Amino acid sequence: MPSTTLLKNLRNLRLSGLLDSLEVRVEQAKIDNLSYSEFLETLVEDEINRRTDNKKKRMFKKAKLPFEKGLDEFDFLFQPSIKKREILELSTCSFVKDRENLIFIGQPGTGKTHLSVALGLKALSKGYSVLFTTVWQMINTLTQSRADLSYQQKLKIYLKPDLLILDELGYRSMAESTVEDFFEIISARYEKGSVIITSNRSFDQWGKVFLDKTLTTAILDRLVHHCHTIVIKGDSYRVKNRSNQKSN
Ligand code: ADP
Ligand code: MG
Repeated sequence: MPSTTLLKNLRNLRLSGLLDSLEVRVEQAKIDNLSYSEFLETLVEDEINRRTDNKKKRMFKKAKLPFEKGLDEFDFLFQPSIKKREILELSTCSFVKDRENLIFIGQPGTGKTHLSVALGLKALSKGYSVLFTTVWQMINTLTQSRADLSYQQKLKIYLKPDLLILDELGYRSMAESTVEDFFEIISARYEKGSVIITSNRSFDQWGKVFLDKTLTTAILDRLVHHCHTIVIKGDSYRVKNRSNQKSN
């Protein structure tokens, strides 16, 4: 039985992984006749595993993914315009390592958010930091932050992650000042961190989203320089589900 002093000290040192496994490890060490250093090694490993797990959980929470769906839940047969091989290649996350961008363009319900989330999960599993937000949410946060003078601090939220997922570009047009904020993010992340953008509008319609011609060109220029673009031409999966339900 470990002494109360030892338990207290481990708690004070926040060695919870070690603390939780101590009793079991002591018993095991006796049975397996472990040397002192072998015994210590198992304990240190328990602590490292605990910390790694906790870090993963923290990063997952911070990513703010709207749901948890992977590529294995994506029906590629339903959406033949998407090349499965291309998505699998992207799922190696070399695009995140190389700080490249990825843009999904397609009608609502074609799986843009699902694929972005699935790639976000892959990136997390490889230890990259991720943040998911809708364009609208990000713009609102930045606009509001000007009022309470926290703009620089809020900007960092969107600049820090290795992968920033910006969902739903183009569902609403942007006011001029908000386009500048959007440009700020894109230009600050250029060649520094990856961005995934999903949009229901093709590139030639982005002028209608950003309104200002010069800014539209500047945004597109930076985004598409190192970029994979996936245009999904197909039907909404939601509609498929609805028609299936009707025929059942
Ligand atoms: P979008 O972002 O393009 O509007 P979503 O990714 O939100 O579309 O997809 C809508 C719903 O349909 C989600 O629940 C998603 O998981 C599901 N879905 C879309 N496409 C597929 C697919 N090919 N296979 C399986 N589920 C899909
Ligand atoms: Mg979506």
